[in-house]
Amino acid sequence: MRVLVDEETCIGCGRCEEICPAVFHLDPVIGKSKVIDEDACDYTGCCEAAEENCPVEAINLAE
Ligand code: SF4
Repeated sequence: MRVLVDEETCIGCGRCEEICPAVFHLDPVIGKSKVIDEDACDYTGCCEAAEENCPVEAINLAE
């Protein structure tokens, strides 16, 4: 699964990292979420929940 975070849209709330820490990490320097391991979506199954809970819809998933 492909995972993209739109850094222009991300407000750095950290919710995606709380929900799915194997995939997302909030970069403390720029205050934006980074994808650290998109392959982890497949075995953790938490990427959809992160996408649904992003308050600004900055996360996009694609097969
Ligand atoms: S949940 Fe959305 S806005 Fe919040 S850090 Fe993650 S990508 Fe950014």
